[in-house]
Amino acid sequence: MGIEGSLNLVEVEQFHKDKTRLEELKIRTKNCCCRYCGGKLSLRRILYGPANSGRVEIFCDDCNRIEYGVNQEIYEIAKYYVDEFEFNHYPDNDDSAKTYQMNVAKICDIISWGCKNLDILEYDGFKVPINISNTIMGEEVVLYKADLEAEVEITDMDEDAIFGRQTGGKLCL
Ligand SMILES: [Zn+2]
Repeated sequence: MGIEGSLNLVEVEQFHKDKTRLEELKIRTKNCCCRYCGGKLSLRRILYGPANSGRVEIFCDDCNRIEYGVNQEIYEIAKYYVDEFEFNHYPDNDDSAKTYQMNVAKICDIISWGCKNLDILEYDGFKVPINISNTIMGEEVVLYKADLEAEVEITDMDEDAIFGRQTGGKLCL
């Protein structure tokens, strides 16, 4: 008997919900990059409680924070937009690398929102074929050719390790 046999109905439902969520997170980890720095994402299990159970979240390894991520194509377009039109949503901030990243993340959110509402983007990627002009992508940019079959490793981390840190993801939207 598997783990499901020892659970009640509510627990079984939660088990499947968690499993689906984990699959979604794995797909995003492969398909997406950080909205702030464009860096690679990874999965970490944040451990808490006596049973050492934990919730799995996507992290940006470079920013070291929880990050839902964005499709890499959208990140490249957003970066181009911020550079080309000198977009600045945070004029009161100093002109730092951090402000630049926040602006790119903001445009990522806007483009993602638009694409989702046009019903061409889902959590696991675009629903239609897309094509980005070379002007925007630049010739040196190589999109991830992720092996979608490969297993995504989950690293354990202590809850205290992220306590007090500023988290990204939905809180920044
Ligand atoms: Zn990052």
